[in-house]
Amino acid sequence: MLERFIDKTTFESQEDFIKNFKIKVPENFNFGYDVVDAWAEEEPDKKALCWTNDQGEHIDFTFAELKKYTDQTASYFQSLGIGHGDMVMLILKRRYEFWFSIIALHKLGAVVIPATHLLTKKDIVYRANAADIKMIVCAGEEVITKHIIDAMPDSPSVKTLVSIGPDIPEGFEDFHKGIQDAAPFVRPEHPNSTDDISLMYFTSGTTGNPKMVAHDFTYPLGHIVTGSFWHNLNEDSLHLTIADTGWGKAVWGKLYGQWIAGATVFVYDHEKFTPANMLQIIQDYHITSLCAPPTIFRFLIREDLTKYDLSSLKYCTIAGEALNPAVFDTFYKLTGIKLMEGFGQTETTLTVATFPWMEPKPGSMGVPNPQYDVDLLRPDGTRAEDGEQGQIVIHTTGGKPIGLFKEYYRDAELTHEAWHDGLYYTGDVAWRDEDGYLWFVGRADDVIKSSGYRIGPFEVESALMTHPAVVECAITGVPDEIRGQVVKATIVLSKEYKDKAGEELIKELQDHVKRVTAPYKYPRVVEFVDELPKTISGKIRRVEIRDKDTK
Ligand code: ATP
Ligand code: MG
Repeated sequence: MLERFIDKTTFESQEDFIKNFKIKVPENFNFGYDVVDAWAEEEPDKKALCWTNDQGEHIDFTFAELKKYTDQTASYFQSLGIGHGDMVMLILKRRYEFWFSIIALHKLGAVVIPATHLLTKKDIVYRANAADIKMIVCAGEEVITKHIIDAMPDSPSVKTLVSIGPDIPEGFEDFHKGIQDAAPFVRPEHPNSTDDISLMYFTSGTTGNPKMVAHDFTYPLGHIVTGSFWHNLNEDSLHLTIADTGWGKAVWGKLYGQWIAGATVFVYDHEKFTPANMLQIIQDYHITSLCAPPTIFRFLIREDLTKYDLSSLKYCTIAGEALNPAVFDTFYKLTGIKLMEGFGQTETTLTVATFPWMEPKPGSMGVPNPQYDVDLLRPDGTRAEDGEQGQIVIHTTGGKPIGLFKEYYRDAELTHEAWHDGLYYTGDVAWRDEDGYLWFVGRADDVIKSSGYRIGPFEVESALMTHPAVVECAITGVPDEIRGQVVKATIVLSKEYKDKAGEELIKELQDHVKRVTAPYKYPRVVEFVDELPKTISGKIRRVEIRDKDTK
């Protein structure tokens, strides 16, 4: 399969990768036909999806079965009036119907808008109107359907509601009955062009309101690097990415790049993340490859890993937030596996990463994906030297790289703000070492300016994380009359230290930071909390702490 999209499929070194990696885009590429159906034709019995849930249910789908079900779903959606360019929102959590639906919608040339089940009435109204959503397909829980029903009077574009059940509320179509009774699928004559919009995700909302990111039909090809050369997958791999389908990370790790690589996607449809259950699942299903954000690994390493047989696990990747070296070291000690970091956004595919042929440097994201022409720029637009901080940008004068978004939907102003004069600005700041590795400093908005110094939160957080008292922490700036801003640490203490919260521990933590990093970075203000404010995808929302402190 891989050979259809890239000429050279194995690489020895980064030089080799940069020189010889090139994506070939088939005319009117459509992931549904050109990957899913192509596998079904070539190797019908190949396992595509291995799905299980908290109740111990377990279903495997081969590519032949997936072709059958996605054709049925496509035909059913056609009968509901869905076709090219129609906007369809999926609130399906990790139910296997998510995969039926997204592929069916690709086959129809429709636009898929996956969303989280935590949306309330107001969020649904906002999204329905922002995108003129025509149909919503959702999971059956009452908490979800109730918000949808409440949103309907203010969402005039929505014509059809579909529920996967088991109970079908009034006003909803029955998904399973629908696909069962569907007429044989007739493929549309021209489902899509390559630059039509196929997928829209909302960003995580770490810094403010989520932005609606539109991707075209070539986007899945951008994830070849994600699946084959970051997750390091092949046809024998069983890969688990821990992400809800309402978060862009889901299509990074549970669909496109994995199936192009011929790997099996593993889905654990759990209600609440518990580290012990996750480890049990990895052991029982012999997962070979795991990708998760740092927050998950921070909790996994606090379990007694000797209780589990994790010998099937060969490769682990991490992205979404910066990885503290302390977490890398502990995970390596416990499992012998080096966490391979990657960096990217909902707006991009994998942009910077540690690839299999590289030695990871704990705390560094790795090197640019050759798909993107990445640079670090000073505020005045000139190139940052090695060792100097700069904003991560992507050059687009040579055309839009495959994988980069098309636009923020219906928001030309916001699109222009982030992307103008041949440069896409990621809003993230990093520095480059002499080997070309990039080191994350922080989001441009999170960088603290104190007494003329620019302090990146990540470095101070990482320093704090090496102290046994600290489970998680967030570094922010609080306004200060003399210094402009001072460094503040908001800290979640480990069980053993919970009752030691007080002046003495604060002093100890401050001294600790002064010892492990440049002393001017130490937090002058320290607050202990039970929990950090986070997005649904588990990212720390420093902006919330900042807002609270300025009030
Ligand atoms: P919003 O744009 O709505 O504030 P968000 O930026 O968190 O939310 P995503 O697109 O899910 O939404 O996340 C991308 C961001 O995550 C990156 O811009 C970066 O700040 C952060 N990120 C991703 N990978 C890494 C990494 N390896 N190290 C540090 N930060 C990372
Ligand atoms: Mg963002």
